[in-house]
Amino acid sequence: MERILIIEDEPSMQTGLRDNLELEGYTVTIEGDGREGLETLLKDPFDLVILDVMLPSMSGFDVLKRARARGIATPVMMLTARGEEIDKVLGLELGADDYITKPFSLRELLARVKAVLRRGQGSGSSESGPVEIGMLTVDFSGYAARRGEMPVEMTPKECEVLKHLWEHRNQTVSRDQLLTDVWGYDDTLSTRTVDNFILRLRQKVEPDPAHPRYILTIHGAGYKLILSPHTQAGPDP
Ligand code: CA
Repeated sequence: MERILIIEDEPSMQTGLRDNLELEGYTVTIEGDGREGLETLLKDPFDLVILDVMLPSMSGFDVLKRARARGIATPVMMLTARGEEIDKVLGLELGADDYITKPFSLRELLARVKAVLRRGQGSGSSESGPVEIGMLTVDFSGYAARRGEMPVEMTPKECEVLKHLWEHRNQTVSRDQLLTDVWGYDDTLSTRTVDNFILRLRQKVEPDPAHPRYILTIHGAGYKLILSPHTQAGPDP
């Protein structure tokens, strides 16, 4: 039975979401306050969090940021109000897996919930076990990574970007291709989002992030992941 935590303060939204998700067979917990929602998320295991942005005592963004900082990799779907484009980008960069804009149809929400839960289950990939990328050993199915013996925090989205590069290793992947294949649904995100994720991944993968040897920039084309280090010293090729 998949467990969903809803952090949302509007009573009508709480009821509507809970009733419909329970009808679909999910076990639902509701919190109406940001701080209490975060505590519940840190304490109990969930398969998905549906997180409102505007909440009493702590915003949805802060809940997300603090949960990720504490190593919580649970998929998060954010609820945003119409027109909060910047909020969407911020949410995704903080490690949200999806967002849905109010008002939304329940049919759409349920479809998104199913999609996020499916992605969270290792996406049925035949590739199993950890792989080595630069300095990082990463297990895509468990969203777990380490550098030497040290655990490295990865958000689900960072894992997905890295996994996409890994599945297309030794090939140039364009920013648009990454946006389409990893985020999938959005025309409001810019390729800057991709660049920011690449910068963060380099901090984790590269021995010297200022001089990438594994995640290479291919000027005018995109990025390329290679598994044996690019040996040429000097600036980002
Ligand atoms: Ca609210």
